[in-house]
This record gives sequence, C-alpha cells and structure tokens, in this order.
Amino acid sequence: MLKLIDKLKQNRILTKDEFITLLDQHTEKDAEYLFSIARAIREEVYGKDVYLRGLIEFTNYCKNDCYYCGIRRSNKNADRYRLTPEQILECCDTGYGLGFRTFVLQGGEDPYYTDDMICHIVRSIKEKHPDCAITLSIGEKEYKSYKAFRDAGADRYLLRHETADEEHYKKLHPSSLSLENRKRCLRDLKSLGYQVGTGFMVGSPYQTTAALVEDLLFIHELQPEMVGIGPFIPHKDTPFGDEKAGTLERTVFLIGILRLMLPNALLPSTTALGSIHPKGREKGILAGANVVMPNLSPVNVRSKYLLYDNKICTGDEAAECRMCIERRINSIGYVVAQTRGDYKSVL
Ligand code: SAH
Repeated sequence: MLKLIDKLKQNRILTKDEFITLLDQHTEKDAEYLFSIARAIREEVYGKDVYLRGLIEFTNYCKNDCYYCGIRRSNKNADRYRLTPEQILECCDTGYGLGFRTFVLQGGEDPYYTDDMICHIVRSIKEKHPDCAITLSIGEKEYKSYKAFRDAGADRYLLRHETADEEHYKKLHPSSLSLENRKRCLRDLKSLGYQVGTGFMVGSPYQTTAALVEDLLFIHELQPEMVGIGPFIPHKDTPFGDEKAGTLERTVFLIGILRLMLPNALLPSTTALGSIHPKGREKGILAGANVVMPNLSPVNVRSKYLLYDNKICTGDEAAECRMCIERRINSIGYVVAQTRGDYKSVL
C-alpha cells in the first residue's frame, strides 16, 4: 500500500483498480503515511497557513429538489428566508473587521435574485472592500450569467459536481437535473477565468467505491483550484432521512488523496466534517486541508440554513466562530492567514 501512495505522489493519479485497492484496503498505518505526505506537500506550497472564508448563507429558497438536501423545494418544514443586499453587505463589514478577506455567497437556487441583483451585490462588496475576494456558490446558471458575475468582479465559484457517476447522479437528483449540465457549468466557469471549486459528498446513499473513483478521475481531468468534500449527513425531512452518514475516516482519507493529486489546491476542512466529529475540522487540516469556512450569516437565520441535521455553530455570533476556529487551528500547530488566500499556481 505504501508503494501505491508513493506512486500517487509521483504521478498524481492512479488507475481505477489501484484507487479501489487504496480506498478499500488501507490500514490505519497507511492512512497515517498518506497524511504525513499530504501535510509535507501542503506545507511546501502553503506553509502552515490556513485561509479563512466567511460564509454568508443568503437564501434558503431553492427551486431544486435534490434528495439529500434539507433546503430542497419539497421540504415544507423549512423556514425560508432571504437576506437583502444591505444585510449581505453588513455581514461582509462584520467579517472584514474580523480579518476575513474572502466572502462566499452561498444559497439555494433562488430565482428571486436576478443576475442584475447578484451583479449589484458583487459590485457593492468589491467597492467597499476592494482587497477582498468574492466567491459565489449559487448553483447552475447559463454561460452569460456566469460571465456577468465575473465581469461584476466575482473571483471564484463553488459548484460541487456531487458525483461523477451517471447512475449515481440519478439516484441523488430528480430527472430535471443532469450530471452533463453540472459539468458544462464547471467548464464554463473555468473558461471565464474563475478559480473553480468542485467536490462531492462522502458516503452519500448508493455511493460505491467505484463511484468515488469516478469522482477522483473527473477531478484529475478538470484540475480545479478548489475541492470541497464532506460527509453526507441525513436530514430528517428529506427522502434520505433514514440513511447512514458518511464517515470521518473515509472523508479525511480522501482529503489526503486529493492533496497528493492536486498539491496546489485549496481544500476546505468543511463544516459537515466538523458536524460529525468534535475534532473533525482539525483532522481534515492534519490530512492536508488548508481552508476553513466559518459562518458569517446573521445569527437569526443560521438555524434555518440546514442542509443536514446536527449542523454545528448555528447559534454562534460571527466573532465567536472566528475566535473558536483560530484556537482550533493554533492547537494543531497551524496559523490563520489574514489574506485573500488565492490559488498558488506555481510550486
Ligand atoms: N445551491 C448551491 C449550493 C449548495 S449547498 C449549489 O447547487 O451548488 C452546498 C453543498 O452542500 C452541496 O453542493 C452539497 O454537496 C452539500 N450538501 C447538501 N446536502 C447535504 C447533506 N445532507 N449532507 C452533507 N452535505 C450536503
């Protein structure tokens, strides 16, 4: 197994069979070896720095009906909200004071926010905080929308492909959504010069090891600047409410693999990882992740943006989250970098 890990480090890719062996047959010792190499690589590129992204969950309305997601259209129990452009800007002002230099605007796919509104919001943030990066995470759009957002100043875009296996994709989404369109979006975003993030859930229902290998091969082909992965966690008011959650162990092992595949990537240690284990985010960083995304949403809406059950930090003020995260990062020997934390394209 150690040879396979060395080979992955060398070639940044393995064959399907090799990936399956690595994923299904590694021991704890193998995982430790993988993590030690992953840490060495991330330190060569990014040192001990961990980048912060202030996450603003600005709407939980969604026109889609993904079977895993708590804010899916059919969930009648979701208490819906939208933030005004002024409220979003206030979150950024608070975040700026706390040292954030990247703001991530995430939401369900909510047609209430027209392209013009999104552009206006992006421009207003950039005007007030020109030294900050803006990341959008608002789902599938047409090329011309992505272009308008980019022209307005958006720097990055997060759009997880969710699963690169056609059959699996259909088991997670209604027929109105397709893997093909998701991939088209990612290609459009790349061609427009965004720093692009993709990713997938670990342990989503019907996920096989072979499907995970498809995810890795797709990521190798796309060469994204960012990859966000986190465990699937059931939400009680969705069709997958009784399914099992993904594991910490498999998620961090995959973070390690991703670091070897993409030495320069920005890899978040996600909130979902922190939600399944009290030290989940620390373990993610120790497996090769270099980004955390503390919540900047106003406290009165936090408990409404529930993609899954038992989400952490839903009652905390932004400042509390900021300090808590810094303490956690320092406790494992890493430091918070108060910079935009852009992708470094050269080693
Ligand atoms: N509407 C945007 C943002 C989606 S929310 C978009 O389509 O990109 C961000 C991510 O949360 C999703 O991409 C998905 O991978 C993850 N997510 C959704 N439901 C989840 C669940 N039950 N468990 C874990 N992660 C989930």
